[in-house]
Amino acid sequence: MPTYRRAIVWLRRDLRLDDNVALANALDQSADVTPAFILDPKLLRGERVGAAIVQFFFESVAELRARLRGLGSELLILDGDAIEALPRAVRNVRADAVFFNDDYEPGARVRDDAVERSLRDAGVHVARSTDHVYFGADEVTQRDGKPYTVFTPYKRRWLASHFEQPRPPVRAKLARLTRRDQLPESLPVPVPADYGHASSSKFPRGGERRAKQLLQTFVRGRIDDYDRDRNLPAIEGTSLLSPHLRAGTIGIRTCVAAAAGLDGAGPRTWLDELVWRDFYQQIVFHFPRLEREPFVSGAERIRWIDDGRDWDAWTRGATGYPIVDAAMRQLNETGWMHNRLRMIVASFLSKHLLIDYRRGERYFEQHLADADPAANNGGWQWSSSVGTDPMPYFRIFNPTLQGKTFDPNGAFVRRYVPELARIPDAYVHAPWTMPPLAAAEARCTIGRDYPPPIVDHAEARGRALAVYTLALRR
Ligand SMILES: Cc1cc2nc3c(=O)[nH]c(=O)nc-3n(C[C@H](O)[C@H](O)[C@H](O)COP(=O)(O)OP(=O)(O)OC[C@H]3O[C@@H](n4cnc5c(N)ncnc54)[C@H](O)[C@@H]3O)c2cc1C
Repeated sequence: MPTYRRAIVWLRRDLRLDDNVALANALDQSADVTPAFILDPKLLRGERVGAAIVQFFFESVAELRARLRGLGSELLILDGDAIEALPRAVRNVRADAVFFNDDYEPGARVRDDAVERSLRDAGVHVARSTDHVYFGADEVTQRDGKPYTVFTPYKRRWLASHFEQPRPPVRAKLARLTRRDQLPESLPVPVPADYGHASSSKFPRGGERRAKQLLQTFVRGRIDDYDRDRNLPAIEGTSLLSPHLRAGTIGIRTCVAAAAGLDGAGPRTWLDELVWRDFYQQIVFHFPRLEREPFVSGAERIRWIDDGRDWDAWTRGATGYPIVDAAMRQLNETGWMHNRLRMIVASFLSKHLLIDYRRGERYFEQHLADADPAANNGGWQWSSSVGTDPMPYFRIFNPTLQGKTFDPNGAFVRRYVPELARIPDAYVHAPWTMPPLAAAEARCTIGRDYPPPIVDHAEARGRALAVYTLALRR
């Protein structure tokens, strides 16, 4: 006998039917289950989201609704603040239970606790589950229960726990979904323009079906060479699953199971990246203050420079360093950026330009389809040497060398910086060194067709070292 008469499953960053813990639990324990999604205008119009992620979410919601309709059910789309919208829906559909998966983002936790209290006060059962991460924030800790702040021991513990008690993908029987004719009229799936966002065919495409295809093609081929190819932005060497893992169009258990079933350095390295994802999630859970401040003590003393011109050049991809510019243009055009490039541009902003890493973090949030507060904050704090287990502050990427190493013949640069398309390989990462004859042949005059570097690498490096040392070595 099911325990609940009718349950609502509140879908948020888990826009899928397969391998969804809250949905599976609801279907297990209830006679009838209504999936619901809430459009919160404050969030959708707020400054912490951008067009690419909004489009990705709406596409995924549209596919989910179509799939549910195919099963004779419906995705109930509501709008407003969850604290009001959810209790209203509970009354409308006469639900006696609400199931949802935990979200570790500090703002989401405050909201979810308030929603839970108000539902419980109204006599509604609330069940929250761990789904977005493979292991919950309190499941992989040091012996004394304290959270890990260094990745390698965290990974060791994570792998041991995975070996002892793997979490297989969750399979739900989709038989008890509420029939569509029993539900009130639902809102239509919106388009990004409804919330003031542009659409683009170049942004990553959403939906559970696409996520499964991406995983399948990746594990059947590219994963074997992932350890070798993952640093080369000119080729598709990575899974491209990040927006899907962010929106939850694929479950983390499904991804882990796919990698753990394979041998070799490629699958092992990919699994490490999934562990990094869990690592930063538990960091944000245990240290919510990192949303606003650095982890490393002393880092709050770093004297950032608030330079409008440098900031503008960085955002537009006009710094004069081809690999930085190509990366920023990739982000602006496509809503995604390769991991190696994220590290390069984040290091460049916070060290070469000494601009506060939080401005870059915000910019990423507004442009990435996979913008995730935990991974983004972790990546920015790592790259700017102020986070948990960060890159040492005296390691300052040389953007020219990074370009030569990871984009040896400039294929990636040429794709996103067409001004440099005809430049000989020898100069493509340092076009300002090109002799006049080569510049004329390449039809690229530095200062006219493409900017000279906005900072000199050696000078900028020296300045960053001095500023960081002053702040951190006190
Ligand atoms: C400055 C900076 C900002 C970043 N911001 C984000 C962000 O907002 N959202 C985001 O998902 N990732 C972020 N990353 C991590 C990483 O760049 C992306 O996850 C990766 O590029 C996504 O491509 P992929 O799906 O092909 O990854 P793959 O290489 O195929 O990796 C598989 C999955 O593992 C996870 N993953 C990989 N690397 C990391 C990492 N370093 N930290 C946490 N999770 C990881 C992602 O979910 C990714 O989809 C950031 C990294 C840096 C340096």
